[in-house]
Amino acid sequence: MKKAIPSLFAVVLALTVAGCSESKTPANNASSEAAARAKVAENPSVNAATGNAAVNAANASAANTTAGNAVGANSAVATHSAEAAAPAGTKTVTLANGASVTWIQDNEGKKLMPRELFSDASDSLYASLNMPAGIPASVSTFLVKVDGKLILFDAGLGAWGGQLAKRLDALNVNPDSVGLVYLTHFHADHIAGLVKNGTAGKMEKVFKNAAVYAGKVEYDAWMNKIPKNDLQKNIMTLYKDSLHLFAFGDSLPHGVLAMDAVGHTPGHTAFQISNLLVIGDLMHGYALQKNHPEINSNYDMDKAKSAESRKRIMQYARDNKLLMAGMHLPPPGFAE
Ligand SMILES: [Zn+2]
Repeated sequence: MKKAIPSLFAVVLALTVAGCSESKTPANNASSEAAARAKVAENPSVNAATGNAAVNAANASAANTTAGNAVGANSAVATHSAEAAAPAGTKTVTLANGASVTWIQDNEGKKLMPRELFSDASDSLYASLNMPAGIPASVSTFLVKVDGKLILFDAGLGAWGGQLAKRLDALNVNPDSVGLVYLTHFHADHIAGLVKNGTAGKMEKVFKNAAVYAGKVEYDAWMNKIPKNDLQKNIMTLYKDSLHLFAFGDSLPHGVLAMDAVGHTPGHTAFQISNLLVIGDLMHGYALQKNHPEINSNYDMDKAKSAESRKRIMQYARDNKLLMAGMHLPPPGFAE
């Protein structure tokens, strides 16, 4: 196994995650994971292995790709349909406008949010959940296919054990074919997957053809006010030529509406597309907060605003019969 080389990238990640991420401990295999992904990206013959099961089988470290799955890897999600057996950690749903949305679980294994994360909840309320080990959750991203374009909502954990690259490969999606990335906010578990450790420890883009859409309020807060922002600054600098800043209420490409979901972070955004509402980090403990939207997680930076946004947006979703997609909802990442 390749020895992990300390790099500026890794140091920046380590420094940054301590202050702002829900995943405080980088996985032990973070650098080998990043190296494996870098290997995939650097080797287009593997990524574009059209119908060549042998190549995929030989490259077991690259992905969960199975022999039966190795068809047309070069063309976005052309071969994937909701009817086909979904690759592990994914689920595809068709939206009212004919677009599809695929939940992609980014964390490895099971994720439980601990009781300590919900200081707002009384002991008796928490005990009534009967979840002493913690509340089932995930770290998730969502891929929408609409108008022949691929749109990713958030990019996950990246070097902290993120599974996004592996799952995209299993879905026959080449990262180069992702046209847009919408960001709900700038916490590390939502943006670190935009980058990978490239040659000589240099940070490189994962989605090199994607336009990145971020809220102006969120961007300004992280660039100017919030401390421990090295990761955020470095990623935004890397993507500066493809970065688009929006305001709440803006109608964005492919009919995406940006909505004020402020509280978790200063510019936390929900996105609506058709009957889908991407709610970002509105909820960290779904089983608790679905009936108690007044309860925040301790990750929520402004608790009063966070609770107000949670109530308002959940009501909006109910009133409009929207399917919610949440970055920390339990598998499979959707809630009615
Ligand atoms: Zn998060």
